[in-house]
Amino acid sequence: MNLSEFHSCAICPRECRIDRTRAKGYCQAGTELCINLAQLHFGEEPPISGTRGSGTIFFSHCNLRCVFCQNYKISLQGQGRSISTNELLSLFYTLQQQGAHNINLVTPTHYSMILREIIAQAKADRLTIPVLWNSSGYEKVSSLQQMKGLIDIYLPDFKYYHPVYAKKYSGAGDYPVVALNALREMVSQCGFLQLDAEGIAQKGVLVRLLVLPHALAGTQNSLRLLADEFGPDLPLSLMAQYYPAGRAKEYPELNRGITTAEYQAVLDVAQALGFTHIYTQELSSDDSWTPDFVTYESQSIAQTGEFK
Ligand code: SF4
Repeated sequence: MNLSEFHSCAICPRECRIDRTRAKGYCQAGTELCINLAQLHFGEEPPISGTRGSGTIFFSHCNLRCVFCQNYKISLQGQGRSISTNELLSLFYTLQQQGAHNINLVTPTHYSMILREIIAQAKADRLTIPVLWNSSGYEKVSSLQQMKGLIDIYLPDFKYYHPVYAKKYSGAGDYPVVALNALREMVSQCGFLQLDAEGIAQKGVLVRLLVLPHALAGTQNSLRLLADEFGPDLPLSLMAQYYPAGRAKEYPELNRGITTAEYQAVLDVAQALGFTHIYTQELSSDDSWTPDFVTYESQSIAQTGEFK
């Protein structure tokens, strides 16, 4: 493996410029791939999970490190194990053999330089299912350009509209600008999400927007921005699954789930803007948060036009 990109790491917008062979940057990742979990996952949006599951691989560490991360043990605490490139390659084939509709790389950005080579090798060999890049959206255009032709489906978040909250909760005041540029690059590479005759995603971009309490993500404004930029055919996943995980309890305003009114306000704006391809999540009937309400694993997502 070529280690040159590790010696002064600038693979993501943090541009730490540290030598990852000797020290840790903002993401805390070293030079070895580290994963927490690889399995068929059925809790993604319907065209991603399909009937046989998404071949999900969770990478340890993260370059965004949101205080409310629902996978904080993996992303913030770095739980996981080192894995060789050959082992990862084998995992791709195993998941494919198990029937996965895709290889779903979760939080992969800080390993881009390694993953490029592995994906290219897999595609040249016997990987035939789509490769999905499931990221925070906090990525450099130049890094994404090097993934061109390797990634079939992009599943980025668009987390914040307001720089002040991006800074406060993710230490990235430039997130809204960076994520919009990243999204432009993803759409230019792959277009909007395309499904096959069975309704399974084959190619394209699907954008995730996680609604935060008190409208702190600025989701309604993000929707207006995305409609202006990409038009109403941009496929969206409007996520209601927020709960106060990680360090969220240190921020009183983040220390509850969202209310039905908060979520409905987002759906109303999406509908008013004329978005045509939206996946929604069911919220519990009362406004109280409980730990098992719309969790990542048990979420219920429905394809709409009509809103749930
Ligand atoms: S990938 Fe990690 S070390 Fe490299 S620039 Fe980003 S945060 Fe810093």
